[in-house]
Amino acid sequence: MGFRALVVSKDETGATSAAIRMLEDTALPDGDVTVAVEYSTLNYKDGLCLGPGSGLVRSYPHVPGIDFAGRVAQSSDPRFAPGDAVVLTGWRVGEVQWGGYATRARVRGDWLVPLPDGLSTRQAMAVGTAGFTAMLAVMALEEHGQTPGKGPVLVTGAAGGVGSVATAILSRLGYEVAAVTGRPETASYLTGLGASRIVPRSDLAETVKRPLEAETWAGCVDAVGGPMLARVLGQMRYGASVAAVGLAGGAALPATVIPFLLRGVNLLGIDSVMCPQERRVTAWQRIGQDLPLDLLESMIHEATLADLPALGAEILKGGVQGRVVVDVT
Ligand code: NDP
Repeated sequence: MGFRALVVSKDETGATSAAIRMLEDTALPDGDVTVAVEYSTLNYKDGLCLGPGSGLVRSYPHVPGIDFAGRVAQSSDPRFAPGDAVVLTGWRVGEVQWGGYATRARVRGDWLVPLPDGLSTRQAMAVGTAGFTAMLAVMALEEHGQTPGKGPVLVTGAAGGVGSVATAILSRLGYEVAAVTGRPETASYLTGLGASRIVPRSDLAETVKRPLEAETWAGCVDAVGGPMLARVLGQMRYGASVAAVGLAGGAALPATVIPFLLRGVNLLGIDSVMCPQERRVTAWQRIGQDLPLDLLESMIHEATLADLPALGAEILKGGVQGRVVVDVT
């Protein structure tokens, strides 16, 4: 049987290019479950895998797509039967192994999560790795004592995928959300998701001058990293936590340890890729409960496989708002 895929190739000069191709099922990687993919999505990492690879992709030709949702077509794993709706995020699928930018994917059953009740395959991909990671960040903050009564929670990179979903979940849970954005034109979108305050990116752009500033934020979901995260650490209230999710603004952390030592600030690392299965199932159940589907709908931009090369370049420039849902069929 054949399937359609967006295939990235590398030429002898090292340049990559993407094209839609028909492939045979025999080209699929090893795995015990074959999925008829219905939807995929676009994350920052997909932008890298569609373009330069940046050390994530091991061999070419490659089918990117770090997330997919669809129905089981064939399974030798007793936990999955043909027709079951499943979602996959992470496990380095779409990086070291072929991913979801195709009508068929083959993976290990251990990596699949049954779709939670009430969520369609399209909605699951509107969530995708970005939204799943936002939920993991909120769970980590809660596990460190976060409650709405403690005060405002900052979300950085708010108009992006992680930030949009974090804003919507936190506001649904009753938090006062302050949304940091470098795109003032997204203000009404962000208030629509439940942000009660917009913080211009420029307010947090300068590098740390004083290790401690006024105690402002009771929590933070940070998709940006770099100098902005360093600055935010000095603005956290006593005992508050920051969930470090991303590096859209840089991987270096030009900070001091003073906020940890004098204010007991916690820096919580969030990893979605190798996140254990039990926690994945819990996070997807929480998404089903705590992410308002009408707000999720307002984040969606529809796309097809053919749109992905251009969108991949766009997300690397920080130019994509909310969540891209890719109808791969
Ligand atoms: P998006 O591109 O959708 O969002 C990132 C947002 O960050 C942008 O929309 C922009 O928001 C802001 N931003 C971009 N560049 C800069 C900059 N130079 N300085 C400050 N802010 C900037 O990406 P995602 O939401 O999908 O991912 C966000 C980050 O999280 C990425 O670094 C990604 O690699 C990481 N990530 C990590 C995961 C994990 O497991 N830890 C899983 C998923 C993502 P605005 O326009 O509002 O300012």
